[in-house]
Amino acid sequence: MSAAPLFEPGAGAGTVDAVLQARELEVLAHDCEGCRCCSLADGRRTAVVSRGNPRARLMLIGEAPGAQEDEQGLPFVGRSGQLLDRLLESVGLDSNTDAYVCNIVKCRPPENRRPTAQEMAACRPWLERQIQLMDPAVILLVGATAVEGLLGIKGGITKLRGQWSRGEGGSLEGRWLMPIFHPSYLLRHGSLEPESPRWLTGQDLQEVQRRLAQLTAPL
Ligand code: SF4
Repeated sequence: MSAAPLFEPGAGAGTVDAVLQARELEVLAHDCEGCRCCSLADGRRTAVVSRGNPRARLMLIGEAPGAQEDEQGLPFVGRSGQLLDRLLESVGLDSNTDAYVCNIVKCRPPENRRPTAQEMAACRPWLERQIQLMDPAVILLVGATAVEGLLGIKGGITKLRGQWSRGEGGSLEGRWLMPIFHPSYLLRHGSLEPESPRWLTGQDLQEVQRRLAQLTAPL
């Protein structure tokens, strides 16, 4: 007879015991540090697992650590991360208290190249575990690589961004998912004109904020 799962996905934050969650996330971070399941282990200074609040209802999943992230051991702390923080702040969200932030792969690819499909697949069990433990109601897929790594959809971020879908199967079951542009793309396209990538991202994040408010509103 199989044991009952520790955590039922889809119910949002608060269903996972805080002490157990903290302990399991600590174990996960330690295990990632020793992981050699793909060749990215060879070039990393440190495995970059997460930052933010594991009790939040919002999870952000990006692509991979860059140089500053590898240096500091924290995701989204370079220029892209700073822009992401400002964009979240503009809709009243703090990336360290209102969100849990991580990446598809935990180790920095050489020359900041995109992680390969094999590397994303090798790292997937760590991400699955993070989703199970954090139990988010809403997941933002930050950039095309996150969409490919999590949903297996290649390309089309321009059309996919801002669109809600409901996760189906496994750790994604029942969760609200939305792709958004990666902040590194927004750094290269800085216009704030209506319909520009940065303006659209502001609209997307307002929609996320509305969804989170609905989810936390009393019935
Ligand atoms: S990227 Fe992921 S799978 Fe590859 S070595 Fe790092 S933790 Fe392991």
